[in-house]
Amino acid sequence: METEAYILMDEAHSRSNIVGRTEPEIEVGFPNICYCGGQPLLQTSYTRNDPGRKYFTCENVSDGDMHIHKWWDVAVMEEIRERARVYEVDLKEHREQESITEEKIVKLEKLVAELQKSKLDEGYELLIGGGTITVFVLFLSILLYCRSDYV
Ligand SMILES: [Zn+2]
Repeated sequence: METEAYILMDEAHSRSNIVGRTEPEIEVGFPNICYCGGQPLLQTSYTRNDPGRKYFTCENVSDGDMHIHKWWDVAVMEEIRERARVYEVDLKEHREQESITEEKIVKLEKLVAELQKSKLDEGYELLIGGGTITVFVLFLSILLYCRSDYV
């Protein structure tokens, strides 16, 4: 999007309308602001060495102070490299997050399996326990019945 904006700017040969950028230093990629705080301008070189080569300069360049001067193609290469680097970092983080999520899912699945198993065991124990009591009560009843027979 930014690249498109600058290409449009390139075509229009006018100053960028992008506002809200306050980075004081000229960093990698497209310059957002000059040392002096002025807006970068995209100009075309007419020197013998670099005819037609685009470069960023400053809207205040005529005051003779130090202002940005950066070749457009250099900025493009920096921008691409920087974006690739950021993308790599994002991808790495994303993959790490993904593996963490996968680990969590595996743990959860194990937990669910354990819970299901313990529930089954509990149910089984309850069944056995209940059965034992039933048999015991039955046995007692028979015993009492037999005894009452004798009396
Ligand atoms: Zn400047």
